This record gives sequence, structure tokens and C-alpha cells, in this order.
Amino acid sequence: AVPPLLTLNNSVTIPQLGYGVYKVPADEAVKVVSTAIEAGYRSIDTATLYGNEAEVGAAVRESGIPREEFFVTTKLWNSEHGYDSALRAFDRSAEALGLGVVDLYLIHWPQPGLDRYVETWRALEQLLSDGRVRAIGVSNFGIPHLRRLLDETGVVPAVNQVELHPWLQQVPLREFHAAHGIATEAWGPLARGRMLGEPVLTGLAAKYGKTPAQLILRWHLHNGVIAIPKSANPARMRENLAVFDFELADDDLLALAELDDGTRTGPDPDRI
Ligand code: NAD
Repeated sequence: AVPPLLTLNNSVTIPQLGYGVYKVPADEAVKVVSTAIEAGYRSIDTATLYGNEAEVGAAVRESGIPREEFFVTTKLWNSEHGYDSALRAFDRSAEALGLGVVDLYLIHWPQPGLDRYVETWRALEQLLSDGRVRAIGVSNFGIPHLRRLLDETGVVPAVNQVELHPWLQQVPLREFHAAHGIATEAWGPLARGRMLGEPVLTGLAAKYGKTPAQLILRWHLHNGVIAIPKSANPARMRENLAVFDFELADDDLLALAELDDGTRTGPDPDRI
């Protein structure tokens, strides 16, 4: 299965389904990412925090597949906010990846208490105009943080990667993104595996002859969201890609909409 491409606001395309490598230990990452590439993933989501950028880069280089078929995302960690430190942090990430131009670079968290994300964003704008990245975006930004970037800087983020799954549907934020041309990317798209036993999901999964994970991923795709599920298990990697041969009916979408109760699996971005 080859995921469809979604076009970002600067015409760069990204596979709508990618592979996330949070908590993939560095000493296993080359093998795990190589397995994901064999399963069909071409978009890999890493971060400085994850400590596996070098291994992600090595797996991509060793795959024998042309570099331009991949879409590699990495993120600036919280300790590197600020114009100069962001530029230096990017240099280290790009060098660790060893893939030349980085496809997407994100500010990992806004840290509104620190209040340096606008200045940090200007560094990402510089990287974009220097041709070191193909697209720039943010992660865990709320509407007020996005509004400041729109008001005070020149480049609209291509992507906002946020926690998003049927328990936390982020409807107002997705509407804001749509109004401003920002693509929504879901992290923890499966609520970290915690909602797979949810009766509405298991019921619908049985109806479609799919697994609960596949049902949730189909829901993301239906919503136009980019999803980056993680699994270290080769069978589940393939399972999570096998979601392009069915569509959810309207009444089932309504049943899924009702699961939105605001449950987070990760921190509240306003408190980091
Ligand atoms: P996820 O929702 O992708 O869930 C992953 C877990 O679900 C796996 O560890 C596994 O236990 C289970 N799982 C996966 N596929 C399954 C299947 N088919 N059947 C049964 N169980 C299955 O959670 P995640 O890893 O936290 O998020 C995905 C990616 O998002 C991360 O790897 C990372 O790249 C990114 N992320 C970003 C941020 C951020 O702040 N920007 C935060 C967390 C994660």
C-alpha cells in the first residue's frame, strides 16, 4: 500500500501516512526503520529528543531507495529555542541525519512560558530561505501561538503536529488550520494504543472487517489529517498501512465524533 500524498501550503508533498520513531532506542532504530521502509513507509517522523536521528538517516541511506522518495521530519528540542541556538540545533540535526536537505523541520513545543517561539520561528524561516529545509512547521501549538506567528512573521507554518485521536479530536484547532492553510498532523494517532479496546471501535472494526487501529487511521485519513503511527512490530507496521481499501459511512463517523472527551495521552502544551 502506498499512502496518498498531501500537498502542503508551499506545494511540497508529504505522504498522508508516515512512521513515528518516538521511543525507538538508537541501538534498534536502524533495524526498525529499515523494516518500516520495507513495509512501505516513506515518511519518517523523528526529533532531536528521540536520540535516533543518525539511525533514521542511516536506514534511509542504506535502503537503496532514492532519497527523493522519502520525507523525513525532525524537530527542534525545547532547550534550543532562540534564533542562534535554533540555527545551531538544526545544523546538528541535519548532520546527524546525513540526508542533505531536511524535508520538514518543526518546533517541538511552543513553551509559551519561555515566550521565544516567535524568534525561534524566524530562524526556521531563515533555514527555509537558505534551502536547508523543504518545509517548516510547528508542533503542539494552540490557536493563540499560531495567531502570533501569523501576525508577527512572514511564513505560515506548513504543518502543526498535535496530539489527535478520537478521544481528542481538536475540532476548533483543525478549523483554524483549514482556514489558514496549515496541514494537521496527528501524533499519538492511536492514542498510544490505549483506546483500541474501546467498544465503539471494536464494534465498528468488526463491521468493516478491520482492526480498531485501522479504523482509527481511516478516520484520520477521512479528516484530511496526516498520521504517523508507531509500532516496532512488522505485522502491525503493515496493518497500519493497509487502510486504503475502505471508507467509513456517515453514521459511523457520527458515532466516532461522540468519542471526543478531551482525554490526552501526553502533556498539555500550555504547561510545558
Ligand atoms: P501511537 O498512537 O502511534 O501509538 C503507538 C502504540 O500503539 C505502539 O507503541 C503500540 O503499542 C500500539 N500500536 C500501534 N499499532 C498498533 C496496532 N496496529 N495494533 C495494536 N497496537 C498498536 O503513539 P506515539 O508513538 O506516541 O505517536 C506516534 C508518533 O508521533 C511518535 O512515534 C512520534 O514520532 C510522534 N510524536 C510526537 C509528539 C510531539 O510532541 N510532536 C509526541 C508524541 C509522539
